[in-house]
Amino acid sequence: MNAVDPETLRASARRFAQVHGLRDRARELDITPAFPWNEFREIGGKGWLGPRVPVEFGGKGWGFRLEAALLEELAASGGSVFAKLVLQPEFCAVLRRGSPELVDRWYRPMLRGEALVGNHVTEPGAGSDVRALVTTAERVTDGTGERFLLRGTKSEAAFVQDAGAAIVYARTKGGDPREGLTAFLVPQDARGISIETHADMGERWMRRGTVHYDGVSLPLSAQIGEEGKGLQYLVEELTEERVMLGVIYLALAGASLQEVSEHVQNRKVFGKRLADLEAVGFALVEDRTYLDATRLYVGAVLDDLERRKATAGKASMAKWLANTVALRILDHAIQFSGGAGYSSKLPHERRWRDVRSGGLAHGSSETLKMTAVREMLGRG
Ligand SMILES: Cc1cc2nc3c(=O)[nH]c(=O)nc-3n(C[C@H](O)[C@H](O)[C@H](O)COP(=O)(O)OP(=O)(O)OC[C@H]3O[C@@H](n4cnc5c(N)ncnc54)[C@H](O)[C@@H]3O)c2cc1C
Repeated sequence: MNAVDPETLRASARRFAQVHGLRDRARELDITPAFPWNEFREIGGKGWLGPRVPVEFGGKGWGFRLEAALLEELAASGGSVFAKLVLQPEFCAVLRRGSPELVDRWYRPMLRGEALVGNHVTEPGAGSDVRALVTTAERVTDGTGERFLLRGTKSEAAFVQDAGAAIVYARTKGGDPREGLTAFLVPQDARGISIETHADMGERWMRRGTVHYDGVSLPLSAQIGEEGKGLQYLVEELTEERVMLGVIYLALAGASLQEVSEHVQNRKVFGKRLADLEAVGFALVEDRTYLDATRLYVGAVLDDLERRKATAGKASMAKWLANTVALRILDHAIQFSGGAGYSSKLPHERRWRDVRSGGLAHGSSETLKMTAVREMLGRG
């Protein structure tokens, strides 16, 4: 149900970014990393956190194209951080398979910007190869009845300092590794949890780190969905997520391309405008073409998603292509801006660092291609 037309939405998002000074805030959050709770609540107040979420779970039930319009404007006029806030409830779509109590306690408040839930998949010994995850949730009986005991370490996770809870993927049975993973909702103030944080090159506001689960006791109601279906749920959610991330990368690249195109028309070197040097003009016109062509490809996959016809392989390659093209464009924006391009005076280098995370997070470039190769050429 698209209650609003895309152009009105775009204008509204641009106004929001201006009124809330999002461009400056993105810079501040890079220099002094913190989770932007104020903006999270404000964006939630507009109904823009997870707007694609079905109405019965508290969302707006928007289509992919409409949400993409919002992401593009928030990313281009604010920064990637605000577009990623929009997506966070959708990154946690698995939680909608939890009990009504879990949904009411964690999911609905997240749509209002009042709670933050993270995802804990990666471990020190396994990231790309999720079949090698070793964190366990063992069913035990103690004085309070049947419970799960969670043991293991999750690493590389976003929001370890800020999330009130995390969806943790743990092994509940042996046998086929694809069938052994179950999802759990784990409040992060539970006993037996300790964290370590590290500094990142980009997306610093996410304050990533490692979480140790040292025999954390969970009620049976913490289980999300069916036992052993964790990996299946994760993959379903990743397909949509990857395309939406591609939309953000292209929006950031588009903003830098626009800004650097203006710069080269004004800046003079050796008596000529930078724009008059073929090395510059050729590169920028190629960038424009790559950007426009990639937008068409990503747009086609968005339409496939809308019609429930998108495949995991196509969605993966949409993310890979958008990431690759965006990094090229952002690198040129840094280069043609000269020394200022390499500094925090201009947004290009921050955008480059933020987009660079896409080569690893939500499926590394290699993992994306493995998914697409399997689809195109089958399994050996
Ligand atoms: C900004 C950011 C946010 C993140 N947020 C989270 C989060 O919230 N929760 C979470 O659980 N994780 C998160 N991650 C972790 C991310 O999902 C992992 O880093 C990613 O899955 C890769 O796993 P790994 O780091 O263990 O690398 P590895 O699996 O060790 O891979 C190392 C390198 O080898 C490559 N590789 C793997 N297989 C092949 C192959 N067959 N052929 C060629 N190359 C291959 C990989 O692509 C990678 O480049 C985040 C990462 C980043 C950068």
